Amino acid sequence: MSLHTTFRIGGPADAYLVPEDAAAAAALLAAARAEGLPLFVLGGGANVLVGDGGIRGLVMDTSRLRTSRLERGPESSPILVAGCGLPMDELCLEALGRGLGGLEDFAGMPGSVGGAVFMNARCYDAEISRTLAWVDSLDAGLGRVARRPAPGPGWDYKRSPYQPGGPAAGELVLEAAFRLAPAGDEAVPRIARVMRERRADREAKGHYRLPSAGSVFKNDRSLGAPTGVILDRLGLRGKRVGDAMVSQWHANIFVNAGTATGADMRSLIELAQGVALERLGARLEREVLMVGEF
Ligand SMILES: Cc1cc2nc3c(=O)[nH]c(=O)nc-3n(C[C@H](O)[C@H](O)[C@H](O)COP(=O)(O)OP(=O)(O)OC[C@H]3O[C@@H](n4cnc5c(N)ncnc54)[C@H](O)[C@@H]3O)c2cc1C
Repeated sequence: MSLHTTFRIGGPADAYLVPEDAAAAAALLAAARAEGLPLFVLGGGANVLVGDGGIRGLVMDTSRLRTSRLERGPESSPILVAGCGLPMDELCLEALGRGLGGLEDFAGMPGSVGGAVFMNARCYDAEISRTLAWVDSLDAGLGRVARRPAPGPGWDYKRSPYQPGGPAAGELVLEAAFRLAPAGDEAVPRIARVMRERRADREAKGHYRLPSAGSVFKNDRSLGAPTGVILDRLGLRGKRVGDAMVSQWHANIFVNAGTATGADMRSLIELAQGVALERLGARLEREVLMVGEF
């Protein structure tokens, strides 16, 4: 799995399957269900820490489910419908190419459309749920497609209905429909500029310097400052366990500085949580998901 995660960490999956289209994905879900095999859905692998023991059961890689098409909503408003495996950055480019605004803040964010929906990703004050019109998902049992308008029940800060405990937990996000705005000829250069600025800002903040999964912890307003600032004040910047390191440039981004293992990264995460609890009484909530055997 280290080949398929942005941390470049993780042992092997028992089976790694890459369906060609939605029908193959549905068949795979049904087969896994029938055989009683656990199945993990992987998008861009940009928000997961996979353990060194790897993942038991099946991993479904969605990267080939990358359709896109333009539909018309009420009063012929443009709706861009994207397959779950399309990288978010490509979706942003596609919107730009069609002269549509509304996704530019997501330019440069690693990961797929499905992962962004599942995580309710957000950056620069833009949140995925606010751009959505609806999401089509497949339930594991019957292979039926359910269309849910979005936002709606189950959406919140970094929460979506598809996460454990949500009303659509365990469903595969198949397609997401984004409600966009026609930019008009004069606005297209502005959208292109914002996209360039977002990528440049990430570059300047060191997002792509070493393998990572972006922010490790969620922000918590009650702490009075972004989690990165809190971790920095706690003196954790540069802290290491093996090759797992709190980055020197952003204390909420932990990086694989060489050959970090899942165990190293997990220990570093737990160490930071322990320090925050002991010194501030604060419980840092992990944003990065731990998957598989550690
Ligand atoms: C350098 C860097 C910068 C980042 N910056 C940001 C940022 O600004 N804002 C932000 O919110 N995040 C950020 N992230 C984290 C990451 O990009 C997002 O969480 C992204 O949305 C994850 O998408 P993914 O496809 O990689 O999901 P994965 O890591 O592959 O999966 C994450 C979860 O989503 C589930 N999932 C994936 N696809 C589907 C599907 N089709 N159906 C159902 N479940 C699915 C998986 O099972 C898993 O539980 C950053 C990461 C990196 C590496």
